[in-house]
Amino acid sequence: MEEGLRRAAELLSSSRQAVALTGAGVSTESGIPDFRSPGGLWSRYDPSEFATLSSFLRDPVRFYQLASEFLSVFTAEPNEGHRALAELEEMGLLKAVITQNVDGLHQAAGSKRVVELHGNLRECRCLSCGTVLPIEVLAEKLVQRGEIPPRCGCGGLLKPNVILFGESLPAEALREAFELVSRCDLLLVAGSSLMVSPANFLPPMAVEAGAELLIVNEEPTPMDAFASVVLRGKTGKVLPELVRRVKEIR
Ligand code: NAD
Repeated sequence: MEEGLRRAAELLSSSRQAVALTGAGVSTESGIPDFRSPGGLWSRYDPSEFATLSSFLRDPVRFYQLASEFLSVFTAEPNEGHRALAELEEMGLLKAVITQNVDGLHQAAGSKRVVELHGNLRECRCLSCGTVLPIEVLAEKLVQRGEIPPRCGCGGLLKPNVILFGESLPAEALREAFELVSRCDLLLVAGSSLMVSPANFLPPMAVEAGAELLIVNEEPTPMDAFASVVLRGKTGKVLPELVRRVKEIR
């Protein structure tokens, strides 16, 4: 780890166009469960039964019962890992954070340029009339009034503005992510199993374009063999340590 941290700090401080790609792992230390860690949501639920657009449309009641696992998202606070990434941006060392997360914690930590590949939990949308409402409207119906599934005034189903399996990713976010990665000279992946497409196309794309790849994750990922440095550990510990080392060099 020591040698890896030293090398990672050197690469980061000499980079000019570094970009981060984050996943659910950066938010587990804020109390939000990820999908694929042991004990994560995937070990308890079948994704095809829960997180797909067709399952939502088929059985919205079940969707909302399982979604109650995610209520911690609304009270969660950013952790040291989120703050470290915001600090790297503030220092001029990180151009942007591309995230698969929907929890808004990068912005809460101070990151300015955040590309949300899988939508967000700030808003919800009526699947019948298309009205977009703040998520608080949905949360109030769900939690205070026990309205499952929550419905719009027009009677249509309300769906959080998060991307479920089977839905297309927001085109603009995807375009921005591909552009950032095609130009970056270093991609810092943090807290992602790199099992979800198309986010997991980004690291090979960066490597093919000649960028350095740094991976900070508790468990192995399919891209470890292609990384310049792999740091195995918690993002809430490793990322602040990386920032500390970068400051020592600069
Ligand atoms: P994932 O669950 O597939 O993988 C998470 C990875 O993070 C695992 O490899 C795990 O070992 C690692 N990890 C967990 N805690 C860590 C920590 N503290 N430090 C370092 N590593 C840690 O997550 P993914 O790759 O983001 O893909 C899953 C999908 O889940 C994404 O589409 C994402 O949108 C969605 N999701 C988002 C949230 C959220 O917004 N917080 C939470 C759960 C799932």
